[in-house]
Amino acid sequence: MTVVVVGAGPVGVTAALLLAGRGLDVLVLDRHAEAHPLPRAVHLDDESLRVLQAAGVADAFAAVSRPMAGLRLLDGGGRTLAEFPRGSGEHGWPQGSMFSQPDLERVLRDALAARPRVRLRGGVDVLHVEHPAGPVRLTVRDRGSGVEEQLVADAVLGCDGARSTVRRQIGARMRDLGPGERWLVVDLVAGTPLAVWPGVQQVCDAVRPATFMPVAGDRYRAEFRLRDDEAVADLDLAGLLGRFGAAGCTVVRSAEYRYAAQVADRWRRGRVLLCGDAAHLTPPFIGQGLGLGLRDVHQLAWKLAAVLDGADDALLDTHQAERAPHARSLVRLAVLLGRLMTGGGDHAALVRRGVLTGVRRVPRLAAFAASSRTPPLRPGPLVRRSRIAPGSPVGGLLPQPPLEGAGRLDDVLGLGWVALSGGAPVPPDWPGRVLPVAELGSPELARWLGRRSVLVRPDRIVAAAVRR
Ligand SMILES: Cc1cc2nc3c(=O)[nH]c(=O)nc-3n(C[C@H](O)[C@H](O)[C@H](O)COP(=O)(O)OP(=O)(O)OC[C@H]3O[C@@H](n4cnc5c(N)ncnc54)[C@H](O)[C@@H]3O)c2cc1C
Repeated sequence: MTVVVVGAGPVGVTAALLLAGRGLDVLVLDRHAEAHPLPRAVHLDDESLRVLQAAGVADAFAAVSRPMAGLRLLDGGGRTLAEFPRGSGEHGWPQGSMFSQPDLERVLRDALAARPRVRLRGGVDVLHVEHPAGPVRLTVRDRGSGVEEQLVADAVLGCDGARSTVRRQIGARMRDLGPGERWLVVDLVAGTPLAVWPGVQQVCDAVRPATFMPVAGDRYRAEFRLRDDEAVADLDLAGLLGRFGAAGCTVVRSAEYRYAAQVADRWRRGRVLLCGDAAHLTPPFIGQGLGLGLRDVHQLAWKLAAVLDGADDALLDTHQAERAPHARSLVRLAVLLGRLMTGGGDHAALVRRGVLTGVRRVPRLAAFAASSRTPPLRPGPLVRRSRIAPGSPVGGLLPQPPLEGAGRLDDVLGLGWVALSGGAPVPPDWPGRVLPVAELGSPELARWLGRRSVLVRPDRIVAAAVRR
């Protein structure tokens, strides 16, 4: 069985690693020979680190990243409005990690090169994807020779980014969840470390909203919102950087981006499926763009492997049903934080100060600020939870607390379904092996489970829970 992954960005390469880990042959196609050289993402949360762990690259990622201290919201005068610290969370990794995207992409590509079941072919444009009932046919063109050829795959993942060809080919359109905004993104290198707070600083100011953060090593990132009528050349960049004590840094890259808040209205046609930026685009204020894409492929890889091994194709319907509401929820949260940061006028500034100093009044933002946990998946065939179930673990990720022996929980649980038993009888229709929690050597997990038993999916989402 061969899966073609269109796009060798971080989402496509992670997908390939996960699929190869499940015994599938994977061909990754990208129009460029090399990974995208410019830094884009700088933050990943600990849930996303679980995905990198499943792909076998979390330790290598940890070596090129550093834990993030938290998020500090400042007013236009530099006074702190609110601060949300980040530390070590429930997933066995720092709640937030800072990194440079090219470093992550190098780690991913190195891992890919070591997988005999995966082939990466650069310099190839995917032009056309046909999705009849059977195998998928692709038309590709070699960018060097101009020669076109037909390929056949058992399934195709469209991980081809914001301007996705695959999205167009399956007739999907992006739906706006908020207005687009122009931002200037500036990457900096400091000769000597700057005396700045080690977390992310967001300046909540209608005139010039801005973000500043240490990335990793000697690198820093500053971002400034641009007005619609403003040219980048007119900005006093040194003055803006000076507000963060970074005027003396070397600018290694400065680029204008238009941030969109969009989710595709269709994520699948037959065995052609969208993941990553091809399926959703978010403003970066909560650092979730790439994280969303990593979750897409983590939650899809096992389903696709099951379908290619004979399970009903209907399993693939859960891809959009589960992932789209989750993506919409986080994109809307990013839009909300953006509005709080950037709403205009004196009145808005007063409201903002009030809301941010008492951020608990914005429940979704407060919940996200207090922990790195993202919203649970909605109830469905693979998430057996009633709509009103406060405190239920179902739909969220199983925690990954330390084990007394060696190893990490996800690695010990393996690739399949697991029923973790804390004493409540495990229903006979639960798939997978039954594992008494006491056997895992994790008092923390045993405490979390109590006398419940939970059904854990191959992507470590809790699918069901029963009480004794
Ligand atoms: C300034 C900025 C800051 C960001 N900060 C964060 C952050 O802190 N945290 C976070 O989680 N996210 C952040 N993001 C978002 C993150 O960078 C993206 O979500 C991520 O790169 C998407 O990965 P992807 O693999 O889906 O797409 P991409 O990285 O865009 O990869 C798509 C690949 O598909 C290839 N391709 C496209 N079309 C074709 C075709 N027809 N044929 C062959 N190949 C094709 C392209 O060459 C490309 O290599 C940020 C983005 C920006 C711009």
